[in-house]
Amino acid sequence: MGELKKTIIAGPCALESLEQLSECVQFLKAMGIRFIRASLWKPRTSPAWDGLGIAGLPMLLEATLSDGLIPCTEILTAHQTQLIVDALKYYGKKDSSMLLWIGARNQNHFEQRLIIEIIKDCPNILFMFKNQLWYDKKHWMGIFEHIVQTGFPAERLIACHRGFSPGYHENKENLRNIPEFEMSMELKNHFKIPMYLDPSHIGGERAKVIEIAKQSLAYDFDGYLVEVHPNVQSAKTDKEQQLTLEQFEHFVELVDKWEPLAKVA
Ligand code: PEP
Ligand code: MN
Repeated sequence: MGELKKTIIAGPCALESLEQLSECVQFLKAMGIRFIRASLWKPRTSPAWDGLGIAGLPMLLEATLSDGLIPCTEILTAHQTQLIVDALKYYGKKDSSMLLWIGARNQNHFEQRLIIEIIKDCPNILFMFKNQLWYDKKHWMGIFEHIVQTGFPAERLIACHRGFSPGYHENKENLRNIPEFEMSMELKNHFKIPMYLDPSHIGGERAKVIEIAKQSLAYDFDGYLVEVHPNVQSAKTDKEQQLTLEQFEHFVELVDKWEPLAKVA
């Protein structure tokens, strides 16, 4: 099977158990996906299960690094970042890589700077920043400025659009978050770094995730961050939007012109 043309970061919204992660990783690896997402610390709108936290970190690293895969996870604090950097040294090899990101809810630039200070000189750590929840181009640009002014190299930096909270905006398609494709392209040119799309948190429901992916094909996104769960009925977070393994194959066919494994064999 050939290389994927677009970078696709895929995996469960949250790491729930070793079984859940392993099933997902085996499937994704066979499809040629190298970037595996699974969040350890989950920011929640209302109080609820908020992730395995540090207990999930060895699981995430062990299930991915030995196969040369790149584990990807959200960090909210400098403390979490330091734990990950230390664990990567312990569990990884010299050339093991990771991708960390700050999510839409994490908009404290004092903390963001502390995070960047920890990883800016780690050549094997990629960093991604999403747009914030509320609709504001200037704020999204500001996140980028804080990161680069703290010294993080643009070559290891990725932006990701996850839509803006609908608030009181018109929302005809009843999406979880409203995409701004044009703004994303404008900022891609301005930042001069890759721009990814997160159709999962825009769509909010499986069918809409695929629909948003279709709409995005008219734009030049460099990659996708997408939630996939091996058993969606039992998902502990974002149950409605995580794609089944089968739907994920369809997603990759769509955005990457990828051929299903059955046809390739
Ligand atoms: C996520 O990607 O799991 C997530 C929480 O997304 P966001 O920060 O975009 O809400
Ligand atoms: Mn999620």
